[in-house]
Amino acid sequence: MVRRQTRDVRPCIGEAVPAWVVPIVLPTPYPIGPVTVYLLTGDPLTLVDTGPATGVAWRALNAALAERSLRPVDVRRVLLTHAHHDHFGLARRFIRLGASLAAHPGERRNLRLDRGWGLLWCQLGLAGMSVSRRLALFAGLRALDRTARRVSSFEPLVQGQELPHEHGPIRVHHLPGHTPGHVGFELGGEGVAITGDTVLDGRVPNAVVDSDPDRPGEPFQALAAYAATLAYLETLRLRLLMPAHGPCIADVAGQVAALGERQSRRSAQVREVLAGGPATVSDVMTRLFPRVALLGSFLAFSEVLGHILELERRGEVRRLSGHRRDRWELDGRAVQRPG
Ligand SMILES: [Zn+2]
Repeated sequence: MVRRQTRDVRPCIGEAVPAWVVPIVLPTPYPIGPVTVYLLTGDPLTLVDTGPATGVAWRALNAALAERSLRPVDVRRVLLTHAHHDHFGLARRFIRLGASLAAHPGERRNLRLDRGWGLLWCQLGLAGMSVSRRLALFAGLRALDRTARRVSSFEPLVQGQELPHEHGPIRVHHLPGHTPGHVGFELGGEGVAITGDTVLDGRVPNAVVDSDPDRPGEPFQALAAYAATLAYLETLRLRLLMPAHGPCIADVAGQVAALGERQSRRSAQVREVLAGGPATVSDVMTRLFPRVALLGSFLAFSEVLGHILELERRGEVRRLSGHRRDRWELDGRAVQRPG
């Protein structure tokens, strides 16, 4: 899931992509538009991400495989960048056809479609969202969950692991931020990596609210993790990122810098709203995203809460716990701190 409608739907296809890697563009019913999954030809025949569990995506994937005289049953291994519906929806279908499935353990809850409804209900309430809005939002999320099939067992991927492949080892990079267990796959010796929703051309991947896999019951500190991931990505010195949405990314450093700037701007906007006095997450959402639709409101909530938690972690805002809702205010000590 990524906030905002696709502006550029050109997928990552072209000469820069290694000849043995086949990008396959599949339709999704989400505002983001189509998703690109990647078929790694050779032994074992590997699919990175699957597309959502919709009939139209399944048929499009079958057609793309048939163009290469392949069938779904020929896919021996499915690797997941992360467990959002457009990336893993069809995974269970491939498991039933005999493929292995591997993902990072940090995605276990998302793979089970376990949203932690109780905790989410409380979080949305503390954020100042009305009961009727929460009920409507839950109905929307449950409808969204019909576009993925839950998965309960998979092979766990670990940072730095190398998966064997005919065209060279596939190295696993843990890239948390967009989700806790997001990974990228660097393709042996090619200087290229499949990076899911970590870096998208011209768009900021939304840090969707998740529980922290290492601290049960606590929200995942998505923005701090994401900043570290961007810094780590730069150290890999890759010549090309192949994302799940939109065009290939050749200027990795430029995109990373632009993403950092956008995040700082958003953070400044949140601080600006709080400078007017204590506010709930919902108040900040209303100010920053006044016309957001229902499902968009979940992403807007994720975005605002993510920034507020990051500001709290940095000591720039503090929580005023209330009986029914939390309000947030700028931390005077941090504001007065020189520099
Ligand atoms: Zn995603």
